[in-house]
Amino acid sequence: MNRKRSTALYKRAQELIPGGVNSPVRACRSVGMDPLFIDRGDGCRLFDADGNQYIDYIGSWGPMILGHRHPSVIAAISSALEKGTSFGAPTELEIELAELLVEAIPSMDMVRMVNSGTEATMSAIRLARGFTGRDKIIKFDGCYHGHADSLLVEAGSGVATLQLPGSSGVPASFVEHTLSLPYNDIDTVNKVMAEKGDQVACIIVEPVAGNMGLVLPDDRFLETLRETSEKYGALLIFDEVMTGFRVAFGGAQERYGITPDLSCFGKIIGGGLPVAAYGGRGEIMAHIAPSGTVYQAGTLSGNPLAMAAGIATLKQLKRPGFFESLDTQAEKLITGLASLAHKAHIPVSCTRSGAMLGLFFIDHPVKSFADAKKSDLERFSSYYQGMLENGIYLAPSQFEAFFLSAAHDDEAIQQTLSAAERVFADL
Ligand SMILES: *Cc1c(COP(=O)(O)O)cnc(C)c1O
Repeated sequence: MNRKRSTALYKRAQELIPGGVNSPVRACRSVGMDPLFIDRGDGCRLFDADGNQYIDYIGSWGPMILGHRHPSVIAAISSALEKGTSFGAPTELEIELAELLVEAIPSMDMVRMVNSGTEATMSAIRLARGFTGRDKIIKFDGCYHGHADSLLVEAGSGVATLQLPGSSGVPASFVEHTLSLPYNDIDTVNKVMAEKGDQVACIIVEPVAGNMGLVLPDDRFLETLRETSEKYGALLIFDEVMTGFRVAFGGAQERYGITPDLSCFGKIIGGGLPVAAYGGRGEIMAHIAPSGTVYQAGTLSGNPLAMAAGIATLKQLKRPGFFESLDTQAEKLITGLASLAHKAHIPVSCTRSGAMLGLFFIDHPVKSFADAKKSDLERFSSYYQGMLENGIYLAPSQFEAFFLSAAHDDEAIQQTLSAAERVFADL
């Protein structure tokens, strides 16, 4: 595969942008590769700067659930564009997206729009602290909630990929109130809450963990978080930036039937433009300025182009049968991959929640970050490289999930499975 132009662009980028990328995992370092520069996307496919074609399983790290260049999203953005790009004043589009969110998300009475998932979780935590008057927060090892200071402790995603314990530049005093516990470990949660529950403002969790690879919640885990937070007067925050409108229309809270106090959304709700949101019970949300004293603001928040893209996307997802057919395709892909690996005698652990998928090179089920870290990372790198050579564009890390879009048809899935069969044979 010719990658001359990508290579040249990467060289140029590295002189100007740290590491040549605007977000660390894109650099593909952990799999020993240089990044591909993308020229355009179409449906489930991406085309790089050299004209090579790939089936895309990153989907911009989650947002592109309709595939690239969905006609109704393009039309919505174009028509908003005609009216201007930003006003810094309220528009009707913000109400429309808020209505769609509140209607879809079981726990949400009110919602505030922001521009990134990082902002959403950071603001939700500030709100939880403001509301409860407490400082401590509980998070879980291997969960990623964006790059706010207090959350970069035992974090997933790029932090895990680069094998960092956290980030430099974060004063110890900024994380002294952050407790990070093992995912799915009910006993530890109960023990820590029994000791410190009355100082805990919130428990924040990815209800399906997608930033250490895909780790499913054990049956009693989310329930335990709901019970113990209620018992000690802490808020439960679901970070559904990845799972929202992905594992089900109403997110993980709908799929697993647990109602958090606050939840955070991002990725899909912007339809490929920068939108995120946090919301929950009205009584809590009323503490946000200007109705309350917890300050949070944004020059471009509720941007009309971004709102238009989000509205158009969510309307497509509401169509009858959308999630059922996505589910069917996702199941075909994951069972196909699992059985091909089995046939090739390669131990894997495959996970799935809706159209969010995981494949660990490991011989036992993965329940936590500690488990995920035992995966065969070298084998993952070979798998990644082989799949890319065969035209399959996967997240370049064992510690990332992969995503299906509505544009992944039978042909794309068949092509992916044939590639996997060839690659597994050589691993
Ligand atoms: C992607 C992600 C974030 C961060 O969102 P950004 O828009 O990248 O800031 C936060 N939480 C989860 C669960 C995510 O997957």
